Amino acid sequence: MDFLLSEDQKRLQESVADFCDGEVAPGAEERDRTGTFPTALFGKLAGLGVPAIPHEPKYGGLGLGTFDMVIALEQIARVDQSLAVTTMVNAASGLTFARFASDLLKDGWLADVVSGHRICSLAGTEPQAGSDTAGSTTRARPTSDQGWSISGEKAFITNPGTDISSFTMVMAVTSPPDAQRKSFSLFHVPTGTPGYRIAPSYRKMGWRSSDTHPLFFDDCRVGPEAVIGEIGKGRLITHRGFQQARVFLGACSLGLAQGSLDHALAYAKSRPAFGATLGRLQLIQEMIAQMAVKIEAARMLVYRAAWLSDHGHATLKDLAAAKYYATEIGTECANLAVQVHGGWGFMDDCPPSRYLRDNRICTIGDGSSQIQMLLIARELGLDVAFGSEHSTDSYQNPDSPGGRNVDRPRKR
Ligand SMILES: Cc1cc2nc3c(=O)[nH]c(=O)nc-3n(C[C@H](O)[C@H](O)[C@H](O)COP(=O)(O)OP(=O)(O)OC[C@H]3O[C@@H](n4cnc5c(N)ncnc54)[C@H](O)[C@@H]3O)c2cc1C
Repeated sequence: MDFLLSEDQKRLQESVADFCDGEVAPGAEERDRTGTFPTALFGKLAGLGVPAIPHEPKYGGLGLGTFDMVIALEQIARVDQSLAVTTMVNAASGLTFARFASDLLKDGWLADVVSGHRICSLAGTEPQAGSDTAGSTTRARPTSDQGWSISGEKAFITNPGTDISSFTMVMAVTSPPDAQRKSFSLFHVPTGTPGYRIAPSYRKMGWRSSDTHPLFFDDCRVGPEAVIGEIGKGRLITHRGFQQARVFLGACSLGLAQGSLDHALAYAKSRPAFGATLGRLQLIQEMIAQMAVKIEAARMLVYRAAWLSDHGHATLKDLAAAKYYATEIGTECANLAVQVHGGWGFMDDCPPSRYLRDNRICTIGDGSSQIQMLLIARELGLDVAFGSEHSTDSYQNPDSPGGRNVDRPRKR
């Protein structure tokens, strides 16, 4: 394993970092305050080629890997985790679509997502079923014209309600109501489809300039071509999307932790205290050193999971460990950065204050820290029960029946 970035990766890191320092950081606080989704800024990020990084050249992608996407996400999250999460949900959802949708669907819809002209989303969570995805009740019934009618409700979905939102992918029960075990399928639903309603956005603690909505489906009709992957495999495919998102979300927390350290360090060096600066105080030095060590440990886990993913060796445990540790230390580092900033750290327009609010969701969303612990315990051979197991799918991986390697090697 080689963690030295290639010359191309260094150039990618530098160009995204320069863009983020010059164009993303200056407006981040205002976007957070006003809850404004940055359509034009995302367009500029697309101009740099960021949404195209992990996709195949056939659809306009750069044909690079998870590791390259992680490098870019880390830099974006260093200054604005809201923009990073918009980008990462689009990448994880887009890759799920690219892996499992039919050529017909991909030919019609993928290029716009790859270019970043449009964004997409993955709708798994429901008001009564988050971690327990098998408890979902949104249902798709077959119609007489070979299509499907979807009815139900999704909660907390990222990316569906912007001017550039192209489509969502909805996980719905497709086994008959009296079936002994439930099975699910995943459906492509374009924005504007009759019966698909995007309710007003939530008021959130953080990620305020990212787009999050409840979604309602009321006899929403889609054709037979809307099924993504095999009928009955929708929960597995949705989990595959969540697994992909885990290493990306780890990168979002890693970048935020690095941004927290950068702010804390700069403040400690400049803030006068006791005849010198804060940075001369040993207990402040301890906080800074702790942050630095945790960030390096998280970077190793996230880079390793991304590298293993690109080489077809990532296990559920590798992804869970990277997601768990990076998201937990993201909150710890933002909290320490607030402490270093004293009273100023408590003010909304002090960046570490925003960082602390933003990262709070990262240990909850995309499989909470508790769920990652359970996955790791199960991979270590313990008998783990995941709440309701009343479904034909389980927390496994469609590419690998043993559920261990979650990626096939990438063709380079
Ligand atoms: C801003 C935001 C954006 C989101 N974006 C998306 C999206 O794009 N798509 C999507 O599908 N979802 C999305 N989500 C949903 C997110 O993934 C869920 O909130 C998350 O999976 C947790 O589910 P829940 O909220 O229902 O909590 P619950 O599952 O009810 O969990 C509540 C608590 O119980 C714990 N818990 C649950 N089960 C167990 C167990 N077996 N053992 C021990 N503890 C357990 C959890 O860790 C948590 O602390 C988003 C959420 C937010 C807030």
